[in-house]
Amino acid sequence: MSDAQENSAQDAPRTVVVIGGGQAAGWIVKTLRKEGYAGRLVMIADEVHLPYERPPLSKAVLAGEADIETVRIAKPDEFAALNVEAWQPDCATAIDRAARVVTTRSGREVKYDRLVIATGGAARKLPASVAKSAHVTYLRTLDEAMALGERLRRSQRVLVVGGGWIGLEVAATARKLGVEATVVEGAPRLCARSLPQDVSDFLLDLHRANGVDVRLNASLVSLEDSAQGGVRATFADGSTLDADFAVAGIGLAPHTALAEAAGLAVEDGIVVDEFGETSDPCIFACGDVANHPNAWLKRRVRLESWANAQNQAIASAKAVLGVKAPYAEIPWFWSDQYDVNLQILGDIPAGVAPALRGSLGEKRATLFFVVDGHLRGVIAINSARDLKLARKWMSQGRAVDIAALTDTSKALA
Ligand code: NAP
Repeated sequence: MSDAQENSAQDAPRTVVVIGGGQAAGWIVKTLRKEGYAGRLVMIADEVHLPYERPPLSKAVLAGEADIETVRIAKPDEFAALNVEAWQPDCATAIDRAARVVTTRSGREVKYDRLVIATGGAARKLPASVAKSAHVTYLRTLDEAMALGERLRRSQRVLVVGGGWIGLEVAATARKLGVEATVVEGAPRLCARSLPQDVSDFLLDLHRANGVDVRLNASLVSLEDSAQGGVRATFADGSTLDADFAVAGIGLAPHTALAEAAGLAVEDGIVVDEFGETSDPCIFACGDVANHPNAWLKRRVRLESWANAQNQAIASAKAVLGVKAPYAEIPWFWSDQYDVNLQILGDIPAGVAPALRGSLGEKRATLFFVVDGHLRGVIAINSARDLKLARKWMSQGRAVDIAALTDTSKALA
């Protein structure tokens, strides 16, 4: 083929390659076909499973109540109908942007017209100088969740390192299974990066009331094999704690190395625009690995959430086909722990005291973050309906009245 016949960034693509096999990758291939793309579609993924959703991993899958059949994004026959060449398990090892070729670990090569990087990330690991025991585990994949669930169900005591979302959901599942749980968090409060103090305190009370031994400001020095065949944690103050095994949930490390090596702009994730386009017009990125300009937050952000993995992927897939609809959703996140459903919508600005509707003590409360008479963000505790209304008002840019928001004698609607 002569250079003149080469597919350019303006032409309709004939081959689209997707690197990654998670939720974002699943929504890319689904959307491409839904939008009528009939060309070659290759998905390169290092897991053996077809794309699945992760939120149930730390809850129903861990508890033994769900498996691959429950968490799939598409049933195997639906996926087969998408006509995707799924190269699994394999791993993209290099992107040659000049030749538009992706090379994989198994030695395969594919030439793309458009490339989508949806590589997500890996569980951040504790340093080897701390994690010196084989009984230290992580939870990111379905196989890890299944194995961890089996282990949890035959254990008496689990040590959870990290008081973030993984840590708290694992602790709640452990308690549901009758397993003793200790959570050690280095920071002075739980989920400190995503929640205000009041809600951190609420979660602390919730876990303690459910029998979790939560230790804040914990400075973990080492995790070593214990004499009983489990793990022994040693802290900076010299105290120790034994458990059958440890699960560390200390954050996510986005898989950006491939993009970086290919010379794409990377800054806390692969830098993309509102259409998911990277600094190379033939390459897109979405999901946990992408850093996008968020219209609601009015800043760049890399979001690690179910809603972002799905909806940013949909917008990116459309842009791959030249249909430019900006991704401009209000960030949304939820967690389920014990009898509590907690949802976060929008921006939780530091220094803004929320207007409280309901009562945290009664486990039914909505915290409205109002700036200049408008809602910037909401945290809903067992009050999903309030959050749904708030989402509508936020999308409409409607002004709100704090007295009306907090008056539980009147319906919010
Ligand atoms: P995370 O929410 O960032 O929480 C990690 C926590 O571990 C932070 O509080 C962190 O404190 C703490 N930490 C870090 N190093 C530590 C150490 N050496 N000792 C003790 N504590 C330490 O991350 P995650 O819980 O691992 O979750 C990983 C990803 O899965 C995230 O994207 C999360 O959103 C996602 N996830 C989502 C859900 C859900 O949607 N419901 C559930 C589970 C997981 P600092 O902040 O001070 O570092």
